Amino acid sequence: MSLRMTSVTARLYGPGLPPAGQDVTLRIDGHALRIDAPQRVLPEQGVRLRRVGFDLKGLELAWDDAAGTHALQVLDGSAVENLTRALPATLQSAHSELTRSARKENSGRRLGWAVLGLFLAAPVILLALFLVFADPIAGWIAEQIPIEQERQLGEASFAQMKDDLKLRDDTEAARMLRELGARLTRGSRYTYAFHLADKPEINAFAMPGGIVVVHTGLIRATTRPEELAGVLAHEVQHVELRHSLKSIVKQLGLSALWMFATGDLGSGMAGSAATDLLTLKFSRDAEREADAHGLDTLIRSGIDPQGMPDFFRILAEKAGDAPAALLSTHPQSAEREAALREKLGALPAHSAQPLPWKPWPPVL
Ligand SMILES: [Zn+2]
Repeated sequence: MSLRMTSVTARLYGPGLPPAGQDVTLRIDGHALRIDAPQRVLPEQGVRLRRVGFDLKGLELAWDDAAGTHALQVLDGSAVENLTRALPATLQSAHSELTRSARKENSGRRLGWAVLGLFLAAPVILLALFLVFADPIAGWIAEQIPIEQERQLGEASFAQMKDDLKLRDDTEAARMLRELGARLTRGSRYTYAFHLADKPEINAFAMPGGIVVVHTGLIRATTRPEELAGVLAHEVQHVELRHSLKSIVKQLGLSALWMFATGDLGSGMAGSAATDLLTLKFSRDAEREADAHGLDTLIRSGIDPQGMPDFFRILAEKAGDAPAALLSTHPQSAEREAALREKLGALPAHSAQPLPWKPWPPVL
């Protein structure tokens, strides 16, 4: 206990004083707390401590007597410090209690702000994560989509474009296409549908869930069925590797995450992306992946894989021609042809029966 006398400036509120209070000097001498003007002694018991001021750093001492409630406020920082040090033992413990609860309240408030901040920043954090990890996240989301939903998505977009495709599915060439397709997709988890469209552009595309469309123009550009098999094997791999789904999920960006979280991904994608499927461009990595897996599929199916690089040669030669629509979605034909020939050169020798369809190209 300090025997040294401490005095601090304070403001006194209470009965008989102006509402704005009155400046006084508080003197603390051992147990006694005195206010010099008007001369008054605070009671030894019953003084209540409270934090006051804008930032709750001030200290208030309040007590009751016959006249009413009196309050003495010290707001100045160093004065509060001096007062705190000099407080008599009975008030010291009350003060420590006050400090403890203030600290608890403060950390609670800080936690509240942190949670609120995180909540407000969550979309930004998600967006940043999505931008940085777009490929793996899109891939992961795409893998969560059931095949049945994927099939519905593909069928919805196929239904939208069907009228423009001029399908020729009742022809001999279409039957050959289905037979070749069945051979390349044996054992797949997908149920495929191969369609022949009466269109002059050199084009073929696959839709999510296993719908593959080949233009008559593409078949006309081939010199033997193995080249068509090469294109089909490539397109089938876009389905098997879920490239369309991944691209759509990537295009949808954050809303795909939202749709996934709300369990509405399938229908949401059908609504917002169905019309984009035709113009969908895959990344160069996806194309290389479809090439490599397609080549393996050809070999597994007992089909001469040379047809695949051979068709890329044809595409590269036609690069200047307008109707090579496949080129707009499948650039770098020469580069990919070279990569395929290199891969083939590294493989052990294999033999394949030529595909039976003759004459080639079939009647279209
Ligand atoms: Zn492709």
